[in-house]
Amino acid sequence: MSLWINYNRCIKTGNCYRDFPELFKEKDDSFPEVLNADPEGDAHDDATWARSNCPGYAVRLGEDDTEQVVPD
Ligand code: SF4
Repeated sequence: MSLWINYNRCIKTGNCYRDFPELFKEKDDSFPEVLNADPEGDAHDDATWARSNCPGYAVRLGEDDTEQVVPD
């Protein structure tokens, strides 16, 4: 189950890395970086919550990643 960020949609609110530091960390440019791209168990539940509460609809879990863009 792939966890990733759609950087085209992320608005850098920081919710994901503040609420779930085991799944995400803040990069120097304030975008999140995924630390666990294949969360299982409780981590998967957290990833589901992070996706549901991302104001930019940028947290993606198990969805088509063909629109994924990785910033420099
Ligand atoms: S919660 Fe969503 S919009 Fe906010 S930093 Fe994380 S991915 Fe970006």
